[in-house]
Amino acid sequence: MTRFRNTVNGQPRGGDQWIASLNPFDGEAWAEIPRGTAADADEAVTAAHKAFSSGPWPAMTATARGKLLRRFGDLILRDAEKLAAIEVRDNGKLYAEMLGQLRYIPEWFHYFGGLADKIEGGVLPMDKPEMFAFTKPEPLGVVVAITPWNSPLLLLAWKLAPALAAGCTVVIKPSEFTSCSTLALMELVAEAGFPPGVVNTVTGYGSEIGTALSEHPLVAKLAFTGGDATGTAVYSSAAKGLKHVTLELGGKSPNIIFDDARLEDAVKGAISGIFAASGQTCIAGSRLLVQRSVYEEVAQRVTAFAGTAQMGDPMLDTTQVGPITTVPQRDKVLSYIDMARQEGARCLLGGGRPSRPDLARGWFVEPTIFADVDNSMRIAREEVFGPVLSIIPFEDEDHAVEIANDTIYGLAAGVWTGSTRRAFLMADKLQAGTVWVNTYRAVSFMAPFGGYKKSGIGRESGQAAIREYLQTKTVWINLAEGVSNPFVLR
Ligand code: NAD
Repeated sequence: MTRFRNTVNGQPRGGDQWIASLNPFDGEAWAEIPRGTAADADEAVTAAHKAFSSGPWPAMTATARGKLLRRFGDLILRDAEKLAAIEVRDNGKLYAEMLGQLRYIPEWFHYFGGLADKIEGGVLPMDKPEMFAFTKPEPLGVVVAITPWNSPLLLLAWKLAPALAAGCTVVIKPSEFTSCSTLALMELVAEAGFPPGVVNTVTGYGSEIGTALSEHPLVAKLAFTGGDATGTAVYSSAAKGLKHVTLELGGKSPNIIFDDARLEDAVKGAISGIFAASGQTCIAGSRLLVQRSVYEEVAQRVTAFAGTAQMGDPMLDTTQVGPITTVPQRDKVLSYIDMARQEGARCLLGGGRPSRPDLARGWFVEPTIFADVDNSMRIAREEVFGPVLSIIPFEDEDHAVEIANDTIYGLAAGVWTGSTRRAFLMADKLQAGTVWVNTYRAVSFMAPFGGYKKSGIGRESGQAAIREYLQTKTVWINLAEGVSNPFVLR
């Protein structure tokens, strides 16, 4: 069995205890990762702090940092197939999806590598005579990047690229379910030429090392993606030490189909919103809002399309729906399906585990569709994080907006319409960090991403994201000779 090790200060680190990494397609252990301790977390943070404070990294120009990032991006592209295969074995998502992600991830390192030496301070047009003042962006310090299991390297890249471009150093804590690709990536960190200690990893259970990382006095910022309950705990820890945070949390995103939409496209948009990645995406369009006049037709067409989705081995090109990443998550999804039935929703498709013998060892849940869902039902209010779609009817624009915004979340929303007026109007009124019109589940390195309401704090990707890893220093230089009355404000 492959054993992946952590990297601290450029050196491999094993552990006294190991955690098995299980393949969701067959339930078999295929690799092991170290079960880190609070002492390991402390060592990793201390190494990152040393690399931030002294040695080659703080002495490096922003231009040189940018070159390292771009080289790193090129190496990821070179090894995209290998890394994608590791991710599939760890999280069960389709190889086609993970390879697509791995081939796109380098763009974050190229983009933020390019941005590294374009972050400028400014000279202030001073209102005080003979005083010169300027601002200077400086890196925050040690960043702890905590990632979930659904897209480990993509969500890591969203943190790592701007953090390194800004000049921070990083400790990565990947999900205990899917750490292998992150540990494999560390070989490329070394090959790219990052100095030891600039990027470190510590794997293990959140309950065992999470607090040690998020309350560590030498950590300046926590960049977290995960569930909202964990995010709240991380935010509380950050508050104790007054640390900076970026929180990318859950969602219950509305995907809204108006009767003037091209229904063929809208149906595909509904499918990609919820059944891609077996619904295990924070941006899942898990509430499909359909205008009453086309409600039955859309429900029937989405059901027919989803009914053709091929479940199977995620490594195969022909597979469209893979297993759920973990057993607890599979059981959680199944419990929500039971709950939806009890709440009175009408099951149009799926509703359990598949009966095919060749899928028996995997953690599969059938693509499942519920119609006649009321937005007050738990199936419409809570994040399922699985292939379960709730279809909710609406009457008009105002009604769609009312239902769409009636949620604690605000990560994303989709709108399907043939009307430009309606597209702009809905984009204005929807409370979500991302609104897609006539598309769904699109992301880019240059497009800010993050949540409204309980879906998070801060933004990843885009130019502004680097600011999340910087702080502003204002420098005053007195050009006059002599100091005026020391007892009054200057
Ligand atoms: P999770 O919250 O259980 O775990 C996320 C990470 O936090 C893991 O690395 C885990 O080990 C760690 N962790 C657990 N307890 C901790 C603690 N006390 N202190 C510090 N770290 C701790 O999430 P998950 O189940 O891995 O991922 C699924 C969730 O992630 C879903 O809710 C989903 O919506 C969310 N998500 C959000 C986005 C986004 O960008 N908004 C993207 C993907 C996933």
